[in-house]
Amino acid sequence: MEDIIIIGGGLMGSSVAWKLSDYGQKVLLLEQQGKNYKSGSSLGNTRIARSLGPKKDVFSYVHNQTVKEVGQLLHFLNGEKSSPKHKMEDIYTTSPVSYLFQKDDREEIAKFRFKKQRKFYRIASGDAAFRKFGMTIRDDQVLVREYKKYSGTMNPLALIDKLRLGIEKKGSQIKYKHKVVRLLKKENFYELEVLNTKTNKTETIQTKKVIIAAGAYTTAVLKDIAPYFRKLVTPKRVLASFLKIRDQRFKQLSEGEIKNIINGHPMFSQSGKMYFSMIDKIEKDGSMVFKIGGHLMRRNIIDLDRVWTFEPRKKEIKWAKKQFRKYLEMLEIHLEKKDIEYVGAYNCVYAVSKTKIPFVTNIMDQDGVLDKDMVVVSGMSGVGAKGCLGYGLLAADLLLGRGESSSIYRKAARAFGNPEVRLNTKRIRPKRLF
Ligand SMILES: Cc1cc2nc3c(=O)[nH]c(=O)nc-3n(C[C@H](O)[C@H](O)[C@H](O)COP(=O)(O)OP(=O)(O)OC[C@H]3O[C@@H](n4cnc5c(N)ncnc54)[C@H](O)[C@@H]3O)c2cc1C
Repeated sequence: MEDIIIIGGGLMGSSVAWKLSDYGQKVLLLEQQGKNYKSGSSLGNTRIARSLGPKKDVFSYVHNQTVKEVGQLLHFLNGEKSSPKHKMEDIYTTSPVSYLFQKDDREEIAKFRFKKQRKFYRIASGDAAFRKFGMTIRDDQVLVREYKKYSGTMNPLALIDKLRLGIEKKGSQIKYKHKVVRLLKKENFYELEVLNTKTNKTETIQTKKVIIAAGAYTTAVLKDIAPYFRKLVTPKRVLASFLKIRDQRFKQLSEGEIKNIINGHPMFSQSGKMYFSMIDKIEKDGSMVFKIGGHLMRRNIIDLDRVWTFEPRKKEIKWAKKQFRKYLEMLEIHLEKKDIEYVGAYNCVYAVSKTKIPFVTNIMDQDGVLDKDMVVVSGMSGVGAKGCLGYGLLAADLLLGRGESSSIYRKAARAFGNPEVRLNTKRIRPKRLF
């Protein structure tokens, strides 16, 4: 009998597994993919890391907590070595983060208390945006720039690699190519049917406690034990596009223009389809590959496994190109359509919660009783990466019955432990769905 099994080894499962191992627990992490992470929400080398938020903002908290926890993980991995092998820079690229708001959002913006945080944020509208940031914005827009150490971008796959090293170094175990095909609750334990996709053999494993961190597959894993989750979390497809400025045109850019592009990324628009762009890679010759997407450009998925093989839709790539060119125009870099080169694109998946807020929560069992031996970490949508170790901490604590006394910790635990889940589950009445 295992003590704790974690289902899913993306950013969330790896974060919880590390945190539990760090607490001295021996866990077993089951991941359906091979060691080479190829197809989950955490795929890729860049995510925006940022912490803009109002006072006691839970999303800022999980980001800040993640930075802290990454530091502790690296400290553990480096041990006593005089020249540390693992560095914060392997995970984080610090750079200004730009947010574009509509002036109508004034009330929202006021909550950020810029005056009290002048060290970290600068704000401008109208001509001041050009003077301060070299950006031309519309009269109805406001630009905010964040300057914080480790705000900028983070590398999810590099972090997963280090988390895995930490998990194993602490004596916990990871099994790749192990897919949980059935999860059942028995009297005082859980029973998992696990398919080894390499040998095609199935085994039954028992465990006292379970963490579900299966990303877009959460509802599939919970189908027998908590089918009501179908109503709370939905898998979605999003497109990540990769674009370049054509070499010939890139070479014509001045140093000042290149600096403006670098300072202008990552960028996250807070209106419309919520365009975002970031520098994914800088080539040896200095040219850049940009990752582009629309935070709200989500589509439903019929077949989760096959969605990866679908050709990216031309319409979505066209949208990405158009928005990228428009954004560069705001940075006073004027390009023709032919100057934008398509590097590639892939369909990606993630889970969106009904409340749009991630879950770190227990489930309700069939009798509507809170099951404290199971924690679900899901519904991370396009905001999970930057806070992964914050969610990991909350999930590990929830499973072990631990907690911190600070008010922001308790606020985050409440927000992600989401009373609505409980409310909804009562309303949905799990039994009715069985
Ligand atoms: C295009 C895109 C852009 C994003 N941009 C940002 C951003 O800028 N900033 C930010 O903070 N966040 C961003 N995110 C969100 C962030 O990447 C995700 O929230 C995060 O990666 C989710 O991690 P996860 O562990 O929940 O999911 P996953 O990484 O999908 O992990 C789930 C794992 O469970 C495994 N699994 C599933 N079912 C089973 C099973 N039955 N048995 C065993 N294993 C199983 C899967 O193989 C997978 O590895 C973005 C996401 C996408 C897709």
